[in-house]
Amino acid sequence: FNKEEMAEILEKPAFDKVILGAGGRAKVKETFGEELSVQQVVERIVEDVRRQGNEAVLQYTRSIDGAEFTAETLEVTPAEMESAIAAADREVLDALAAAVANVKRFHAEQLPKSWFTEREQGAILGQKCTPLDRVGIYVPGGTAAYPSSVIMNAVPAAVAGVKEIIMVVPPSREGTVNPYVLAAAKLSGVTRIFKVGGAQAVAALAFGTETIPKVDKITGPGNIFVTLAKKAVYGHADIDMLAGPSEILIVADHTADPQYVAADMLSQAEHDVLASSILITDSAELAAKVEKEVASQLATLARKDIAAQSIEDNGLIIITRDIGEAIELANLSAPEHLELLTAEPFKLLPYVRHAGAIFMGQYSPEPLGDYFAGPNHVLPTGGTARFYSVLNVETFMKKTSIIAYTQEALAAVSGQIIKLAEAEGLTAHANAVKMRGN
Ligand code: NAD
Repeated sequence: FNKEEMAEILEKPAFDKVILGAGGRAKVKETFGEELSVQQVVERIVEDVRRQGNEAVLQYTRSIDGAEFTAETLEVTPAEMESAIAAADREVLDALAAAVANVKRFHAEQLPKSWFTEREQGAILGQKCTPLDRVGIYVPGGTAAYPSSVIMNAVPAAVAGVKEIIMVVPPSREGTVNPYVLAAAKLSGVTRIFKVGGAQAVAALAFGTETIPKVDKITGPGNIFVTLAKKAVYGHADIDMLAGPSEILIVADHTADPQYVAADMLSQAEHDVLASSILITDSAELAAKVEKEVASQLATLARKDIAAQSIEDNGLIIITRDIGEAIELANLSAPEHLELLTAEPFKLLPYVRHAGAIFMGQYSPEPLGDYFAGPNHVLPTGGTARFYSVLNVETFMKKTSIIAYTQEALAAVSGQIIKLAEAEGLTAHANAVKMRGN
């Protein structure tokens, strides 16, 4: 393969290729009375929520998610939270608490510091770091519950010092939320929780309604409705990134255990039929063993239909001449998750330029990072690791410049400032400096 051919093979499913299944199309027809594209559905919902607030939120929650609320019952109450947690499995709650502690500890190390520096004649320059006032986190909940997503979004916001963390999560048809999602929210420092999902939740956070407060930034993963809604409201609120289907790319040499490689590929494939699992290796022997192993492990999985379809559509094993070539292809793909299952992964690290997160060696499988180790699992997908970073504490902060000159410091440079202002034709700018006695 040449580079262009490889780029084509590694191309990820684009947003515009997403089409709804029969169930989704029927739901759209029922809700809107006509057939619409995903983009049109999102535009309608966002516009309706912007204009009608609660009324549209409640109506879409009823027609799309089948849950009936009033403005008063849309928010999770402390009593609801307590009874859900009381009925939950203790061991899962303990594991959640341990994960929260690890994620807190890791993200605390990312906290940026405000700083000052001195210049000539007593001038001081600096940078002040401030947390955002109020953020919204989207926790997906359509086909599965993701307490880990609560932790990965809320903990960095709390560590950053955000005062109000507003969470939205789709309800079940009975109007409930998964107890572990609620427990994770409590442990992670979420302030308020609203039972609303999809594009209507994102729009409510971006514009605010009578009940749901408007936020400054919306983070968190979700399906195509959520992603396109985040794209649509960008500018009214900031967003973290546009997350596509999940991906893993494994670079392995002959020392890798084929069982581990296959298990890791399948752990990605079970997410979603659009998820992609790629192995790149310089060992034809390993490639053959992994192929067999994937087939045999698939049969044992709870979500084997999804995983099998994902492997069929987006699974790939590539054999390269050497590991250097494998890393080159990995950089071209810029994967969300990159596993280095080689004898000496740290030797390869300097050559990896584009990846959301890198898992080094055979005892660092992706689920370790997904749930527990501490680094964040909200990662750039679809090749966007070329320019996006993993979600982090600074996602929830902003930086402000500080300029404090003395009379002498200003006098020393005023001539040059005046020259620049006049060169731009901005005489009022020049005056503001001249006025000060220069
Ligand atoms: P979701 O919460 O993203 O979406 C559910 C919502 O979609 C519903 O509340 C509904 O309002 C809306 N919706 C569904 N069908 C619709 C239709 N026909 N018309 C209008 N709106 C409709 O939950 P999900 O669907 O389970 O998707 C979760 C996604 O998040 C998956 O793709 C999963 O892989 C991803 N995820 C990613 C991460 C990560 O960190 N990258 C973590 C967890 C989950």
